[in-house]
Amino acid sequence: MLVEIDVAIIGAGVIGLATAREIAQEKKGVFVFEKNRTFGLETSSRNSEVIHAGIYYPEDSLKAKLCVEGKSLLYKLCDKHNIAYKKTGKIIVAADENEISWLEELYEQGRKNGVDDLVLLSRTELKKLEPNIEARAGLLSPSSGIFDSYTLLKFLYSQAMEKGARFVFDTEVIGIERAGAKYKVQIKDRDGISAFIAHVVVNCAGLNSDMIAQLAGIDIAQAGYKLHYCKGEYFSLSSKYRNVVNRLIYPVPEQAGHGIHVTVGLDGRVRLGPNARYVEAIDYEVDGTQKEVFYNSVKRFLPHIELEDLAPEFAGIRPKLQGPGEAFRDFVIACEEKASLPSLINLIGIESPGLTASLAIARYVGRIMS
Ligand SMILES: Cc1cc2nc3c(=O)[nH]c(=O)nc-3n(C[C@H](O)[C@H](O)[C@H](O)COP(=O)(O)OP(=O)(O)OC[C@H]3O[C@@H](n4cnc5c(N)ncnc54)[C@H](O)[C@@H]3O)c2cc1C
Repeated sequence: MLVEIDVAIIGAGVIGLATAREIAQEKKGVFVFEKNRTFGLETSSRNSEVIHAGIYYPEDSLKAKLCVEGKSLLYKLCDKHNIAYKKTGKIIVAADENEISWLEELYEQGRKNGVDDLVLLSRTELKKLEPNIEARAGLLSPSSGIFDSYTLLKFLYSQAMEKGARFVFDTEVIGIERAGAKYKVQIKDRDGISAFIAHVVVNCAGLNSDMIAQLAGIDIAQAGYKLHYCKGEYFSLSSKYRNVVNRLIYPVPEQAGHGIHVTVGLDGRVRLGPNARYVEAIDYEVDGTQKEVFYNSVKRFLPHIELEDLAPEFAGIRPKLQGPGEAFRDFVIACEEKASLPSLINLIGIESPGLTASLAIARYVGRIMS
């Protein structure tokens, strides 16, 4: 007879960790299966660590709602548990006259999403706030910030454990099969292949979340669940630029990302990126030949930088539902009753603002399960 557990969460990135913390109180027997040796080694540790305000996304989308809710939950949690953060604010800049209408559109979009503190800035107002930035106009988002995401991951992990969740590392989920109203889940670890029965399966497998849905029997092409990998690379700016800006500085958004932006870390170090390049396979090398692209793109609004001041830093991969040139896609957070898979909850396409939204996403999953 196979061992039975209540809930199997697949993946210990920020979404699996936050979900485990959220539901472990209510449900006994919550297990998190992670193929890596520990939590948070993939997308959750390869990002900009920005707390997004919730400006860009269509009204009523999950991205908009969960970002706005998640931002406020995250700031509260950071305050309560001494997780380092800085509400730096962020300015989206119009480098030329043609881009000003974008700022006005983003202003309206943000307000529709409940981001009601946005301020349109003239060139003079912008210059007062950011003397080193050269731009025609700006959109200030005071509630954007940066935070220490690794401490958040550690906190969620230890709280989930305190509440009774158990973590099984170095263990990959390789099969999911309906077994009456439950699921037979097959796993592979150092000792080989084994299986157990789970009453509920929550798919938080990030870049593999489409494949997990497929393992469970969903036709991912038909369901629109096929993921596209979109790489985001970062370059650092040399230490002489420490605190060259006071806030996060973004260009107007691109089709697949927020545009190569300038972020200041909690330590004052300045980083450029990420870009957005669709790729076929997962690899985290930074392509040095992109240096000039970064330089030209940021020089438009930060004119003092020199090419030799940029150095390749790191890369992350976005799990995108939206392919190249395609229209906006929202997060998929769905209980798959329609696919005759009740008690299978899929979280697919959890790209940015997934980190900001993580606590709100976990609450949302908790509501689906209750
Ligand atoms: C370049 C970049 C910049 C970003 N910047 C920001 C930002 O500034 N602010 C923001 O809010 N968001 C940002 N994001 C988005 C954010 O990082 C993600 O939304 C979030 O980290 C997703 O977390 P996750 O838990 O879904 O995925 P992951 O962190 O990838 O976790 C998934 C886990 O599942 C495990 N797994 C996969 N398959 C299996 C299996 N078969 N068995 C067991 N385990 C498995 C993996 O090993 C992994 O640990 C950015 C993303 C990128 C790529």
